[in-house]
Amino acid sequence: MLSTDAVILRATVEASKEQKQMGNVKQTQIRINTSELILIKKMNGTAIADCPQCGARVEMVTPEQAVTMTKIRSRAIYAMVERDQIHFIETNQGFLLICLNSLQKQVRFPGSGND
Ligand SMILES: [Zn+2]
Repeated sequence: MLSTDAVILRATVEASKEQKQMGNVKQTQIRINTSELILIKKMNGTAIADCPQCGARVEMVTPEQAVTMTKIRSRAIYAMVERDQIHFIETNQGFLLICLNSLQKQVRFPGSGND
């Protein structure tokens, strides 16, 4: 039996997407409003949470963990967040969590042994 010291937190995720098209009147508005999000903190420091963009429960890391894992400067990590290059959520407490799934697609992890 695994004894995982799991801490469950609740966070709010709000994502809205608006698409406007010139010419023909075509407007798509997607609005996801998940009031509750289950966030499970794992022993290794990462968290498991639902990524709205992935539509799946994925591993999430703090920006600091992302820096440690990727050896990329934190400013570059934040820039990727700002440019929507990587998925992220913000907890009710205001903490930023980065979707590891999207981060791995953007950058190569040194020493991870991937291809
Ligand atoms: Zn994601």
